[in-house]
Amino acid sequence: KRFSSTISGLDASKVKVTKSQVLKPLVANKDLVFGHTFTDHMITADWNEEKGWLAPEIRPYENLSLAPSTVVFHYASECFEGMKAYKDKKGNIRLFRPDMNMARMNRSTARIALPQFDGDELLKLIGEYTKMDSRWIPNERGYSLYLRPTMIGTQEALGVNPPSNAKLFVIGCPVGPYYKTGFAAIKLMATTEYVRAWPRGTGDAKIGGNYAPGLLPQRLAAARGSQQNLWLFGDDHQLTEVGAMNLFLLWKNESNELELVTPPLDGSILPGVTRDSILSLAREWNEFKVTERKLTMPELREAIKQGRVKEVFGAGTACIVSPIKTIEYLGEDLAIPLDPYDSTSQAGPYTKRFSDEIMDIQYGDKESPWSVVV
Ligand code: PMP
Repeated sequence: KRFSSTISGLDASKVKVTKSQVLKPLVANKDLVFGHTFTDHMITADWNEEKGWLAPEIRPYENLSLAPSTVVFHYASECFEGMKAYKDKKGNIRLFRPDMNMARMNRSTARIALPQFDGDELLKLIGEYTKMDSRWIPNERGYSLYLRPTMIGTQEALGVNPPSNAKLFVIGCPVGPYYKTGFAAIKLMATTEYVRAWPRGTGDAKIGGNYAPGLLPQRLAAARGSQQNLWLFGDDHQLTEVGAMNLFLLWKNESNELELVTPPLDGSILPGVTRDSILSLAREWNEFKVTERKLTMPELREAIKQGRVKEVFGAGTACIVSPIKTIEYLGEDLAIPLDPYDSTSQAGPYTKRFSDEIMDIQYGDKESPWSVVV
């Protein structure tokens, strides 16, 4: 029934707009804390199995009212996206490869039996919403409006079944540069006790259920002085991801070739928009080999000890790149070089270059089809 063509799809032209009566005071750029301040409005749209998507709304940011029996509270029927709106020098609002977020969200909803939606229609709504709340998009490089599209199952019934009702919403929060005073290289704990994701599991979907189980390992890593977990998989300790970021390694491989390596999208890795962008840029530069392949901790440890590892970094929307300086593995601290030419630098030259190039595109300083003016 839910896939029948008579039910209606998400339609941005039907949007009902209700402006907030009282606008909140803006927060000064320097006081922004990631994910703590929200704009005046939000997008919502409800879906049910009989009618499909009802008319979407842009309305004041406010609490949702949900029955305690609502499925999302019991079986984690939830998926989300993370993307940003940027203001360029002319004041235009830009999104970065937003079609990739829409496609990924539809793959996430499919994985947890929530409904599909037309990504182009949600992007139209996001465009209207970001224009309405544009005063919240800081006008400064490094700053942006973080957007959180979310879908939850809203059927009011206990019972492990595909939800008959769902709600889509988008909220936005102004955010600053991840590193206020330039890059800060981090230490990772190579986590051998807990696994984030596994083959044919849900690691490649951006669902809430993937994140709560990472919090205990994160706390344990923090207690030992690491900022993030380096998630491993399998008895051979394959590297997979870093916290909520994809992982990149620049090294001299066994054949003495300079090579950028990232683990392959084997189903247990989130296909990051930043990951894809870094791979594309690297292939365009054509200055070193670019490989998506399995890599194990013993291999990495040996390469570090032989001085073959040049740069290691995490990659994601929040920070673009996050340079890594140390990995604790089986009780041993492995040191990763940062910048061979500058001992005070917190990021390697290629790590910086990826960050600069992506930022230039995001802020419209470099023309690219990846940057979409709303
Ligand atoms: N891996 C995980 C587990 C994540 O949550 C994220 C953040 N979305 C990423 C990687 C990076 O993805 P993106 O570049 O699309 O932000």
